Amino acid sequence: MNVLDEFDTITAIATPIGTGGIGVIRISGDKSFEIIDKIFTNPKFEPGKFNHGWIIDNGKKIDEVIVLPFFAPNSYTGENVIEIQCHGGVNVVKNILNLVLNNGARMAEKGEFTKRAFLNKRMDLSQAEAVADIIHSKTSEFAKASVKNLSGALKEGINSIRNQIFEVLSKITAGIDFPEDVNEPEYDYLINSFHNIIDSIDSVLSGASTSNIFRQGASVAIIGKPNVGKSSLFNALLNLDRAIVTDIAGTTRDVIRETLDLGIPITLIDTAGIREGETDKVEKIGIEYSKQSLDEADLILFVYDASQGLNNEDKEVLELLKGKNYLLIANKSDLTDKTNIPENAGEVIKLSALTGAGIKELKEELTKKVCDINPESLEFVTNTRQQECLKKARNSIEQALLASQLRELQDLISIDVKSAVLALDELTGELITDDILNNIFDHFCIGK
Ligand code: GDP
Repeated sequence: MNVLDEFDTITAIATPIGTGGIGVIRISGDKSFEIIDKIFTNPKFEPGKFNHGWIIDNGKKIDEVIVLPFFAPNSYTGENVIEIQCHGGVNVVKNILNLVLNNGARMAEKGEFTKRAFLNKRMDLSQAEAVADIIHSKTSEFAKASVKNLSGALKEGINSIRNQIFEVLSKITAGIDFPEDVNEPEYDYLINSFHNIIDSIDSVLSGASTSNIFRQGASVAIIGKPNVGKSSLFNALLNLDRAIVTDIAGTTRDVIRETLDLGIPITLIDTAGIREGETDKVEKIGIEYSKQSLDEADLILFVYDASQGLNNEDKEVLELLKGKNYLLIANKSDLTDKTNIPENAGEVIKLSALTGAGIKELKEELTKKVCDINPESLEFVTNTRQQECLKKARNSIEQALLASQLRELQDLISIDVKSAVLALDELTGELITDDILNNIFDHFCIGK
């Protein structure tokens, strides 16, 4: 967008296109009042009061409307804003939009109203992103959690970390700039402060995986050695025949993904059997993907053949799961009553992918394990961009901590501390490139 375009008066339909009770057309910019003066029968506006009248085109009535005036800077965008509430039919809304366009506004780009709110400092970037989260949230829980950011929870959390960093930075800088008057801070003080800052960053990041589950859903990987019934379980959970099921070991060569809706969308991943040794090339690639899926997954279903129990191959796969969130699935329980697994191995669910027995119980357990998240317990909602900024800040502070432990020159330590501040500024939008900014607002809808 041309720089000058940023000051244009913009307009868009703010309500979904379709038939509804009302439709809203928004106008924002210097010319908002000038435009409405030309097309409205009752344009004597006072702050906080709406006006009733008719939209007219060359004296011809277009629709009976309510007009809400917002005087800069007390508006969503921080500019003069007019909202026209008209009857909610596709064509009447379009007619009014065209009239506004013909009288001096230009069509708003995606997210341009919110972008202006950000550029006019009505909100920081975390609040602007919360607007998109609220609009796009797939669950009511996530919408509730996102509202916290709209009211500034993340912004305040980040500012408080920023203040912690600034306090240390100002002490280091004073010691460097005025060595005669101010002593450099003790290294123990620096080490202690950097530990505290890392703890604060971690507390914001601690909600990251829950935030990601709310935003993208959870991923559940099905793993186990070949032929234990992984693909059969995948199909049984989804009620479909997507994965190829055969009794020849190693038939699922790719990683297959499908979405299972359990309130929160679950991406179910069927992996090629994790098996080292004699495998052909295609299968080997599949096996690599399986190992990657283990790292990506929020929960792992480790499937084994209950009629056979665990052999060494199973035990090797189980080793890979140490420290991960997993459930043991005793499949083929139509062939045996026993789970055939040591008691201390973990939580076991008995089922038969062939007959469907136990599938309902597994779904209930999945819901409990990955979907039962209380939005109230989520103090900070973050998206991946924000998480990356926080991780960058954390790395820089870790470097500063290491340098302090090695008693390095404080001049050098200050460089890492400053990069941590820059990473946080990128998060809040204090310091951000046009490309990143445009990319963020591109994910909005027109009219927001
Ligand atoms: P994968 O290699 O782990 O994906 O295993 P498949 O799903 O391809 O199944 C391998 C074989 O085991 C097939 O012949 C399936 O019909 C069979 N099978 C899968 N689940 C069950 C089950 O619960 N009971 C019985 N009896 N056979 C099963």
